[in-house]
Amino acid sequence: MSTALVTDLNLNVEKNGFLDIELDPEMDLFAEIERLKKEKNAIILAHYYQEPDIQDVADYIGDSLGLAQKAEKTDADIIVFAGVHFMAETAKILNPTKKVVIPDFKAGCSLSDSCPPPLFAQFKAQHPDHLVISYINCSAGIKALSDIICTSSNAQKIVESLPKDQKIIFAPDKNLGAYINKVTGRNMVLWNGACMVHEIFSVEKISKLKLRHPNAKIIAHPECEEPVLRLADYIGSTTQLLKYTEKDASAEYIVATETGILHQMMKSNPQKTFIPAPPNNSCACNDCPHMKRNTLEKIYLCMEYEVPEIIMDEELRLAAKKPIDRMLELSAQFGLI
Ligand code: SF4
Repeated sequence: MSTALVTDLNLNVEKNGFLDIELDPEMDLFAEIERLKKEKNAIILAHYYQEPDIQDVADYIGDSLGLAQKAEKTDADIIVFAGVHFMAETAKILNPTKKVVIPDFKAGCSLSDSCPPPLFAQFKAQHPDHLVISYINCSAGIKALSDIICTSSNAQKIVESLPKDQKIIFAPDKNLGAYINKVTGRNMVLWNGACMVHEIFSVEKISKLKLRHPNAKIIAHPECEEPVLRLADYIGSTTQLLKYTEKDASAEYIVATETGILHQMMKSNPQKTFIPAPPNNSCACNDCPHMKRNTLEKIYLCMEYEVPEIIMDEELRLAAKKPIDRMLELSAQFGLI
């Protein structure tokens, strides 16, 4: 690529967060993406909350833990990360020599944004004898201030592996932290952050829905608020919810998490019915607006032009990698691979 073209592309990305280039509407995006994968030895890692078309072109679909593990093991030259910014950043932290591209640089996360590193550093200084466990849904700056990273799949096991008298700060999700406190009997100090998608579910509407579907099981992600979790028959990470619907004998489920996971649930269980839990607003959906910024067109463009790319400061990367490595080691010990 010429220097002028590279400058143009970077300006385009800076302005929009993605490459705003018109594509031929007749282009077969599925075929073109497959071609680029082979030509560039690229792999597409997609989060369960991505739209169905993106999940269908992905080489691997997973939740935060699975994606981090896959990112660590891949031998691809380019990782296309169809998720939000902190996830692509995590892939780069684990793969400094590989090119990591993201379809839309502005695909952020309300939970990650609720925990700015300078404020968290002050909070941490107020609790000097505490170990910091941070949920993976946070920026590299927060990871660098943490001792161990966790995901919703391994948080309980990680906390339980620590001595009972170990003082702990849990960040940034107060709902997941409160849930882990409840199931482990700990009293971790919680940072006051939350995910806008999981906080929006309406207890009243879910209860009414349950009256209309008395045999449906309510399944919920631990990022939901306590009153919603109290209604749930099963609580688990996105992967655990998916596995539960595959093993459980019920025919109907009310699902309290982002709607993207319903695609895999329906693919794995075509005979079962999945009803998204209703949110507390006039909108009928509970999509993550950040996750849903990614489109098939943006995936194609970021593969073709290899921007937006995740670039990281090496000192920050090394500091953020330590607590992720600790999590991956512990997850391997617990058999969560
Ligand atoms: S669903 Fe919530 S935690 Fe996940 S990316 Fe969206 S805002 Fe962040």
